[in-house]
Amino acid sequence: MLAVRPALIGGAVLVALTGFVIARFAVTAAAAREAIASLAGEDAPEIADAGPFGGGIWRALLRLTRSWRERALGAEDRLEDAEAVIAAVLDPLILLDGRRRIVGANAAAERFVGSLGARRDLATALRNPALLAAADAVLQGEAERAVDFADAVPQERQLRAHIARLKRPALDGAVAVLTLHDITALKRAEQQRADFIANASHELRTPLASLIGFIETLQGPARDDSEAQERFLAIMHEQAARMTRLVGDLLALSAIELNEHVPPGGRVALAPLLREGAAALELRAGERDMRVVLDLPAELPEIAGNRDELAQVFQNLLDNAIKYGRAGTAITIGAVALDRPPPEGGPPLPFVAVAVRDLGDGIPREHLPRLTERFYRVDTARSRAMGGTGLGLAIVKHVLNHHRGFLEVESISGIGSVFTVFLRQRAEERPAGMSQNRNNAVI
Ligand code: ADP
Repeated sequence: MLAVRPALIGGAVLVALTGFVIARFAVTAAAAREAIASLAGEDAPEIADAGPFGGGIWRALLRLTRSWRERALGAEDRLEDAEAVIAAVLDPLILLDGRRRIVGANAAAERFVGSLGARRDLATALRNPALLAAADAVLQGEAERAVDFADAVPQERQLRAHIARLKRPALDGAVAVLTLHDITALKRAEQQRADFIANASHELRTPLASLIGFIETLQGPARDDSEAQERFLAIMHEQAARMTRLVGDLLALSAIELNEHVPPGGRVALAPLLREGAAALELRAGERDMRVVLDLPAELPEIAGNRDELAQVFQNLLDNAIKYGRAGTAITIGAVALDRPPPEGGPPLPFVAVAVRDLGDGIPREHLPRLTERFYRVDTARSRAMGGTGLGLAIVKHVLNHHRGFLEVESISGIGSVFTVFLRQRAEERPAGMSQNRNNAVI
């Protein structure tokens, strides 16, 4: 009995203790549930009476929550930064998910392809098959692809698309980024370069082939024909002179292009330059029974420029007037100071305008915009027959670009042409009131 009693007492104590612990735990668990629910909020409470064990867990939980909240805020900041960077990219940029759907785009892309609805297939925005194939290749695992393609809407343009895989998928599902660059100007420049080399080679090959042909004839059939020799040598001389002119013009053009971005530093008085130019071509004009008439005002403001380049401009214009003017007519050179808005727009600026006027066949209107292109000729056979290289007006245009001036051409078929060069007056040379009432000057 005595042995039973302590056991009973022990059992009762155990039951009471267990009851107490369960009751205690039930109370703490309810408080913990409530407190954990409140963790999502800003001010999670302390749990009173959590005991040493529960209190420790609670404090660890609080620390964990705080650090998660900070990390979430940091991630939001980084996301905003990334979005700001994407928005600031000037080229169109589109984010694609693994199924080629658009999951994001910057404003430039929206301007480019119109409004981009959520999760549309890329093909609904850009239909080019080569571009879509490149996108598919990247989405299937390739690191990046670049593809050039043409787009006709809203205007003809050449584009280069770059598609690259992201290092890891973004939260919005983006796995690749597509950027578009407008390379129309680049392609045009490449094409012009290729055309120029082809044209220059062709222009040189023709006289060279003719020279070789004559040399072979002189070595063979015409070996003892002194009359033919004289005739052929004259033609060979003309062909060699043509090649020399062509090489001279090509060198002049490349020299001007090299310096085009450096403003010319000298000061040039145009009247003496024009008189010298007219005198130098008097003989050539005389060969076609033509005269050069100078109609210059008593005073002309100086212009900032390169004398040699400007001499070349007027020589080329006069040379053309002699080549394409009617034999027996006069060529007039007029000059005037006037204010004119520059072609790129803006307020009127003080210019000196020099006009070279001829009486000849004139130039049909449709050719006018292309006259200053290299090797562009209205009538190639006539230009060649007159010794033209097709580069004269290209040189004029580049020199005027160098001088921040410009050229205007007026022509009436069957009557003649006026080529007017506008050159900027030197700022400090301009007398007060010089420009007044000059806007309507007719030259
Ligand atoms: P070219 O050496 O052939 O004269 P340019 O570049 O000087 O080359 O001129 C280009 C073309 O413009 C000429 O081939 C000619 O058809 C036309 N042209 C230039 N000046 C005149 C002019 N004064 N009258 C008529 N046509 C002209």
